[in-house]
Amino acid sequence: MNLKKLSCLPALALLAVTGVSCKHLSTAGADNGEATNPFFEASKLSLQAPDFTRIKDSDYQPALEEGMKQQQAEISKIADNTEAPTFENTLVAMEKSGQLLNRVNGVFNLVTSANTNPSLQKVQEEEAPKMAANNDAIFLNTKLFKRVQAIYQKRDELKLDPESKRLVEYYEQKFELAGANLSDGAKDTLKKYNQEEAGLSAKFTNMVLAANKAGALLITDKAELAGLSDAEIQAAADNAKAAKQDGKWLLSLQNTTQQPLLQSLSNRATRQKLFEASYNRAEKGDANDTRKTIARIAELHALAAKLLGFKSYADWKLRDQMAQSPEAVEQFLGKLIPAATAKAKVEAADIQAVIDQQKGGFKLAPWDWNYYAEQVRKAKYDLDEDQIKPYFELDKVLKDGVFYAANRLYGLTFKERKDLPVYQPDVRVFDVFDKDGSQLGIFYCDYFKRDNKNGGAWMSNIVGQSKLLNQKPVIYNVCNFTKPAAGKPALISADDAKTMFHEFGHGLHGLFANQQYPTLASPNTARDYVEFPSQFNEHWMMDPKVFAHFAVHYQTGAPMPQALVDKIKKAGTFNQGYALTEALGGDAIDMAWNTLGADNAKQDVDKFEATSLQKAGLNLSEVPPRYRSSYFLHIWSNGYAAGYYAYAWTEMLDDDAFSWFQENGGLTRANGQRFRDMILSKGNTENYGDMFKAFRGHNPDIKPMLVSRGLVK
Ligand SMILES: [Zn+2]
Repeated sequence: MNLKKLSCLPALALLAVTGVSCKHLSTAGADNGEATNPFFEASKLSLQAPDFTRIKDSDYQPALEEGMKQQQAEISKIADNTEAPTFENTLVAMEKSGQLLNRVNGVFNLVTSANTNPSLQKVQEEEAPKMAANNDAIFLNTKLFKRVQAIYQKRDELKLDPESKRLVEYYEQKFELAGANLSDGAKDTLKKYNQEEAGLSAKFTNMVLAANKAGALLITDKAELAGLSDAEIQAAADNAKAAKQDGKWLLSLQNTTQQPLLQSLSNRATRQKLFEASYNRAEKGDANDTRKTIARIAELHALAAKLLGFKSYADWKLRDQMAQSPEAVEQFLGKLIPAATAKAKVEAADIQAVIDQQKGGFKLAPWDWNYYAEQVRKAKYDLDEDQIKPYFELDKVLKDGVFYAANRLYGLTFKERKDLPVYQPDVRVFDVFDKDGSQLGIFYCDYFKRDNKNGGAWMSNIVGQSKLLNQKPVIYNVCNFTKPAAGKPALISADDAKTMFHEFGHGLHGLFANQQYPTLASPNTARDYVEFPSQFNEHWMMDPKVFAHFAVHYQTGAPMPQALVDKIKKAGTFNQGYALTEALGGDAIDMAWNTLGADNAKQDVDKFEATSLQKAGLNLSEVPPRYRSSYFLHIWSNGYAAGYYAYAWTEMLDDDAFSWFQENGGLTRANGQRFRDMILSKGNTENYGDMFKAFRGHNPDIKPMLVSRGLVK
């Protein structure tokens, strides 16, 4: 019933990792006369594209409030209906509910993440808890659930088409997983757990923020900063000044265990200090020590799962995912860990050789890794972004790369239009036409960085596809590329270009949605499935035909020299043993905490973390986990508990699916059509594993991912 915003996971592959993430929920406001609120009726522009010339910041809040009110009234009417429950009077009615809310939310999500301001942020803060309560009021509604259950029990006799049957199963599971089945007493207990967890999660986030800040490393002797660029040293001096430490240098901490500056700092003692500041940031026994908080969150996870009848939190949360069970995830990780750690050991030996060659006289430690890896990388690949960028002109990447690949594979064509209003002048709009020339949807893109835009890159819908609601997809991609000076071309990095393919992969998933019901329409799919189409689309960037078509010098039109192309390709497998092993460390920690049973849920954080890594076979001291438990925001407060594995899991899917293309002639219309028919257009209308198997001919195979990462030949 609700449009969902896609949280993009980091795009793994060719070059560096692309950080992509998303926020949700939005609103804006002040009082506004209802008569003039543009959200109160569907937009009359093409495919209900929003009329930004009519939308004021003050329109959002009243529209959101009214939207929730209307939806609650609609839901009550369904739940209180005296007629016996039918598919039409219950589930179809639910699918039709909340249209005003969806309309305003689609636009509000967009503007609050891509073009926000203090008044929009205020509305966001005020409305977020109300939105959460609005959702609970639906999925914990006992009367409504009883109707859904009655339909579910009769589903085989109702002669439903497969998509409708899937909708019945979807709702039954969703209510059940939300706890609608519980007694009133148990529901109250669950709400208490949820409330305590929400409080602790918020506290955890704030403690980590404070710990990051307090953990910044203060340097008093400039010599200790040897290796940093002038700009980095200046930034450190500015940081110190802001912290009232004039004349000193302050190195601030990033979220991850490894710190980007470690690759440049040539003073080993400084490296060690910075690393340890990061590693121990939230375990100092001070006000920012998170250990008690996370131990309690883990316990609450286990208690809530037990209340709902599940063995563990992971067991509960994975039911509606592609993996379906913690055992499947553990099996998957078990296949990756030996290959990743074996490669990491080879990389460690390479690095030790460099240290010995330079007569370092020490054994490689975690704080040395990136410093020496960077030297190995430069020596082996010598990839200079400034050499590459002239071949990646944004408009060419978009039209001759991203759109071109979609044309070759799916027959799509694109036409830019200037008549539709946009929320910011840099935003561009394209009509997207299907292979027969009919309109498939509308695509907005907003590529340049702005101060009022969230970091990362993401995709979502303004209007979601649904035949029931007579809606075609209106979708958007948002990125954060550096904006060129006026009149200059936008030359982007290889990583940026890959991000464009990635986000447009989500876009294709949305554009090809072909569902009756909005709830099941692509890209509304599980967390461990949704990044499959996007990561899959990245592969086409380096396809020889596509690459030759877009990667030409912006001034001369000359193709990129082959030596440079080869360097880009080779650099993709560099240091992948390390990168994968540290990510798997995060996966193992996440799964260990979230597979605890309620009887066993009280744990000592450090001991438990060390034992869990050991048990998983991740005991390389040079490769610490990407996040330790004590500052792992994904799992304790960002909704990725028992889900961090999804990053690697979808990589397995996209590499395996791409290997099908490689075995069957690559970039052809017929192959693209098959992928569209069997994956992209299906949304959540079938079991994820079945869809994948039907396309690939077998269950997901890990081998193509290992090959693509350079872990096996
Ligand atoms: Zn993504």
